[in-house]
Amino acid sequence: MNTFYQLWGVTTPDQAKAKIEEQVREAGITEPANLEEQAISLVGTDMYKKLIKEYTEKQWGRKATDLPAFIIKRLPVRFTFDNNYFNDRYQGIPMGGYNKLTEGLLEGVEVQLNVDFMQERTALTERAETVVYTGKIDEFYDFRFGALEYRSLRFEHEVRDTPNFQGNAVVNYTDAETPFTRIIEHKHFEFGTQPKTVTTREYPQEWTTGSEPYYPINDAKNDAILRQYKAMAEQEKNVIFGGRLAEYRYYDMHQVIGSALKKVRVHFGEENRVE
Ligand SMILES: Cc1cc2nc3c(=O)[nH]c(=O)nc-3n(C[C@H](O)[C@H](O)[C@H](O)COP(=O)(O)OP(=O)(O)OC[C@H]3O[C@@H](n4cnc5c(N)ncnc54)[C@H](O)[C@@H]3O)c2cc1C
Repeated sequence: MNTFYQLWGVTTPDQAKAKIEEQVREAGITEPANLEEQAISLVGTDMYKKLIKEYTEKQWGRKATDLPAFIIKRLPVRFTFDNNYFNDRYQGIPMGGYNKLTEGLLEGVEVQLNVDFMQERTALTERAETVVYTGKIDEFYDFRFGALEYRSLRFEHEVRDTPNFQGNAVVNYTDAETPFTRIIEHKHFEFGTQPKTVTTREYPQEWTTGSEPYYPINDAKNDAILRQYKAMAEQEKNVIFGGRLAEYRYYDMHQVIGSALKKVRVHFGEENRVE
C-alpha cells in the first residue's frame, strides 16, 4: 500500500485494486505474448513501468518484449501497509551465517575441501555407497547433450567509513540508469553495531563457461536439454542429485533445505516410518 500511495495517492486497498483493474482493463491483453504483456495483464502499466520493466531487463540483459511470458507466472501484490518483501512468518539468516550452521551439521564427519568431484570421481564413487551430487547436472554427464545456460553476477565489495550506509540489509534498484540491481549491507542481517560497514553491489552479467553459474535460464531450449539429463539421472541407482545446480532450478534457502530434508526422508524411507 505504501507503494500505491506514492504512485497514485490512494489510501485504501479498494482504491488501489480499482486502479490496477482499470489499467489491466485498458491494456486489454488477453493472451500475453511476452514478459511485458504478461506483467501488464497482471498488475497494470504503472506498476510494470515503475518496478518491473527496467529491473527485469537489467537482470536478464534482454528487452522485456524479448523475454517469454512464463518467467512471470504470478506477481504477488499486497494490499497492506507492510514494507516486508516476503510474506514469510520468519525472515533472516542463522546467527553466525550458514557456514556456522553447516559446520555444526558436519561435526564429526570427515570433510575434504577444494576437491573437484569430477577430477576424483572414480575414487570417490568407489568409496561411497551413495553419492549426493550438488554440482551441475550437465557437467556430471560431460555436457553430452549440451551446456545448460545461466545468468551470472559480478560482486563489488566496499568497506565504508560509516556505521550505517542504507539502513537495511537489502535495497533494490529497479531503474535502468543504475547498473547494479541491489546493494547488500551485511551488518543488518545480524544487527551489527560496528563503527564501519561492508556493502556489496550486485551487477548482473552474462554467464560464460568457467564463471560462477547463478540463475538457471528455464526457457524452452534449456528445458529440452535438461529433460535429457534428467532421464539419465533417473536411471542412476547410487546417486542423489540435489540442489540448484544438480536440479537446474532456482531455489531460495528455505526451499533448498526443504528439498534436502524431503530427499532424506525418501531415501531413508522415513516417509513410511510409524513412530
Ligand atoms: C546471488 C544469489 C543471491 C541469493 N540470495 C538469496 C536470498 O536472499 N535468500 C535465499 O533464501 N536464497 C538466496 N539465494 C539462493 C541460495 O543461495 C540457494 O538456494 C542455495 O545456496 C542453494 O543451495 P545448493 O546446495 O543447492 O547449492 P550451493 O549452495 O551452490 O551448493 C552447491 C555446492 O556444490 C559444490 N560443487 C559444485 N560442483 C562441484 C564439484 N565438481 N566438486 C565439488 N564440489 C562441487 C559447490 O562448491 C557448492 O558448495 C541466492 C542465490 C544467489 C546465487
